[in-house]
Amino acid sequence: MDRFDNFIDGRFVPPVGGAYLETENPFTGKAWALIPRSSAADVDEAVAAAARAFRSPAWAGISATDRARHLRRLGEAVADHAAELAEAEVRDNGKTYKEMLKQLQNTAEWYHFFGGLADKITGEVLPVDAKDHLTYTRAEPLGVIGMITPWNSPLRLLAWKLAPALAAGNTAVIKPSEFTSTATLRFAAIAHEAGIPAGVINVVCGLGQEVGQPLADHRDVAKIAFTGGVGSGTAVYVSAARRLAPVTLELGGKSPNIVFADANLDSAATGVAAGIFASGGQSCVAGSRLLVQREVHDAMVERVVAIARGLRMGDPMHPDTHVGPVATRPQYERILACIAMALDEGAHLAHGGKPLDAAGPGLFIEPTVFTNVSNGMRIAQEEVFGPVLCVIPFSDEEDALRLANDSAFGLGAGVWTGNIGRAHRMAAGLQAGSVWVNTYRMTSQIVPFGGYKASGIGREGGADMIKAYLQTKSVWVNLNDHFASPFGPVQAAGVQAAGRAQ
Ligand code: NAD
Repeated sequence: MDRFDNFIDGRFVPPVGGAYLETENPFTGKAWALIPRSSAADVDEAVAAAARAFRSPAWAGISATDRARHLRRLGEAVADHAAELAEAEVRDNGKTYKEMLKQLQNTAEWYHFFGGLADKITGEVLPVDAKDHLTYTRAEPLGVIGMITPWNSPLRLLAWKLAPALAAGNTAVIKPSEFTSTATLRFAAIAHEAGIPAGVINVVCGLGQEVGQPLADHRDVAKIAFTGGVGSGTAVYVSAARRLAPVTLELGGKSPNIVFADANLDSAATGVAAGIFASGGQSCVAGSRLLVQREVHDAMVERVVAIARGLRMGDPMHPDTHVGPVATRPQYERILACIAMALDEGAHLAHGGKPLDAAGPGLFIEPTVFTNVSNGMRIAQEEVFGPVLCVIPFSDEEDALRLANDSAFGLGAGVWTGNIGRAHRMAAGLQAGSVWVNTYRMTSQIVPFGGYKASGIGREGGADMIKAYLQTKSVWVNLNDHFASPFGPVQAAGVQAAGRAQ
């Protein structure tokens, strides 16, 4: 079996405790590699390396132009190695190679985009009332950033954090998901080969409790950027709060795809099916609730089920495969448990609902569609993170908004309509960080992304988000050669009035 080690201070190092975890290929269902089962001692080493790099001449001492150049080179390295990194991700999480390759190619753009901002970080001279003062701000990096990533899109979700953090001059300690660590380790080595100085990017692998938690608790970690589920995100938030460290949290969703009777139903059905079945529904913005206007309910269900029936599941490396396996064994069990729960709650199974062993040796579940769902059921409220769609009818715009917003989450929402006024009214009324009209699941490095309500704190993407990795220092400089006493003339007892020290 292949064995991987942590990447700390520019080289691969075994975990201090010498323990390893097996990592499974979800298509074969077999363990293929060992990754470090690290501990707080490894986190300490990585944070110390990142803290040294943060102050080092090789990183802190370089110009903004050189930092921009580093990020551009990193973007080029990711693009050059996109095929290799995509293959590593497929082996780790079972998503199709086609999808991962496209993702990796786009991931390169994040480094280019934020590299372009590295030399545009400026302060301001402020027109304060005190005219004998020069007052200005400096935008400074925060320090060591702890980055904790999930298994569904490891390198892309890492870039959302790492690109702005490096562009701002920070350094990083990354804790990838224990299910998908190998691509992140390879990426760190590629970044180092591309010239990123030792210690700027460090990767420590292992379990959430044993590595993620000590990272979130670490007093020398200036900020935590996290993507994952609400439970672990809350634990990270609590740890950071204990030492008053800032966080960016990208969490789960139960996103509605809302189809009005005036929509192009064929196009809407394609968008709805892609929104929930692409990546086997293992996407934070999976459109897992189809809210459909009552008069087109049956027509939409028929169309979506027809697409679900036509999806080819199988080897994620095969170019004809539409959907690969579920990424992890616990997730596979959870999806099947959610399907059983929906049946118990009285939902009607319109399609799917079973494991699909014929698709391959690994972890396959049929694309699943439930009708007869009400928005109050657990299957309509809880994130499944799998290929399970709930169909819920609505009467009019007001009803659609009420149902869409009746959720603890607020990550994404799709609106399918031929009425432009309605599209904008819905966009304004939806409690979601991203609204897609007659399209779905679009993201870009140029556009902010993040959640309302329990879907997260902060945004990733967009030029402004570099500020999430900077802090402002205000500097006041007295231009006079004396400090005007606020007390008026005071004869300081026992001290002779003196001029300036020579
Ligand atoms: P997860 O929360 O189980 O794990 C995410 C990461 O957190 C992993 O690296 C894990 O080891 C670590 N972790 C777990 N417990 C921890 C703890 N107590 N302290 C510190 N770290 C801990 O999530 P997952 O199952 O890997 O990913 C699926 C979840 O991620 C879904 O809820 C999905 O919606 C969410 N997600 C959100 C976005 C987004 O941008 N909003 C994107 C992708 C995935």
